[in-house]
Amino acid sequence: MNVAVLGGGQLARMMALAGTPLGMSFAFLDPAPDAPAGSLGRHVRAGFEDPEGLDALGAWADVATWDFENVPAASAQRLAQQVPVCPPPRSLEVSQDRVVEKEFLRSLGIPVPAFAAVDSDEALRAALAAIGTPSVLKTRRFGYDGKGQRLIRTAAEAEDAWRELEHRPSVLEAFVPFSRELSLVAARGQNGAVAAYPLVENEHGNGILRLTRAPAPRLSRALQRQAEDYVGRMLARLEYVGVLALELFQVGDGLLANEFAPRVHNSGHWTIEGARTSQFENHLRALAGFPLGPAEAVEYSAMVNLIGTVPDPAPLLALPDAHLHVYGKVPRPGRKLGHVTVLGSTEAERDARLEEILARI
Ligand code: AMP
Repeated sequence: MNVAVLGGGQLARMMALAGTPLGMSFAFLDPAPDAPAGSLGRHVRAGFEDPEGLDALGAWADVATWDFENVPAASAQRLAQQVPVCPPPRSLEVSQDRVVEKEFLRSLGIPVPAFAAVDSDEALRAALAAIGTPSVLKTRRFGYDGKGQRLIRTAAEAEDAWRELEHRPSVLEAFVPFSRELSLVAARGQNGAVAAYPLVENEHGNGILRLTRAPAPRLSRALQRQAEDYVGRMLARLEYVGVLALELFQVGDGLLANEFAPRVHNSGHWTIEGARTSQFENHLRALAGFPLGPAEAVEYSAMVNLIGTVPDPAPLLALPDAHLHVYGKVPRPGRKLGHVTVLGSTEAERDARLEEILARI
């Protein structure tokens, strides 16, 4: 089976690493000559809106997907005229605009922070009156890893914040005093079956994911059920095929949705060693129409992103049950270059090993 991927980043690379044993071949559309997935399949070096590149991919592929959510929806739709595209391109249209995304979530009865669209000075004032402070102003489109957003502590800061966002169409949302950030990764197959991974706990620094603990510590069945219920509704409404990740804020015993990614997700990287079937394999199984694999955690695991620099592998790999993934990217400050996953048979063992990892990176 020939799988085309829009984007040749680390997520595409890990898809290829998971799909090759299933007998799949890969092609990646990515303008970057050194795209991390490039060496693992055909690399079509063209822009994401390049009609010739898209058509070459479509002519070759049996199925197409993507590895980043800012894929132009029109490109996914163009491919969809030639070849099945999973997840449905509609999921891109929803997730690419924070207002559309929140309205979608709310229409499914999934709680989200109070929000208001901001597209003029007047709308900003009205939004501040409705939402209050502290609040967070975010651009509606093209935000990722905390980029394109400003915390507003008092109303006086709002105008400066909006100027810093270059007066782009934005959304003001209530600041959520969350106790922790969680995410749920789940796959839906072509027959509608869903495989949901355990909720995981995520720590961010400067808006970038640093650390994931899986399963989330102190995970109750009720919390897992709540998250699976939210994601189940989203998957069904979108008639989704593939992996989706929902990022959540926990407040008390409840969960608020922050945003979702219609793709494999950084907070699911632990599943490569830590779950019975990795998120990458389940994404590809779904695309191919194969049955999904079990999503249970095999042990306790933690995933640490390697940001800006890649450490010496030997000391890391000297630790028991530590696994290194290097993406082959040119180092740059703030860039995700790889990750390490460590497992333990108890939470205490996992945490002790995690401390060792953190001391060596
Ligand atoms: P986002 O790009 O929306 O995922 O935001 C990046 C990070 O900023 C989140 O992971 C949170 O740590 C923080 N954040 C975003 N929105 C809010 C909010 N409404 N209240 C509190 N923290 C937030």
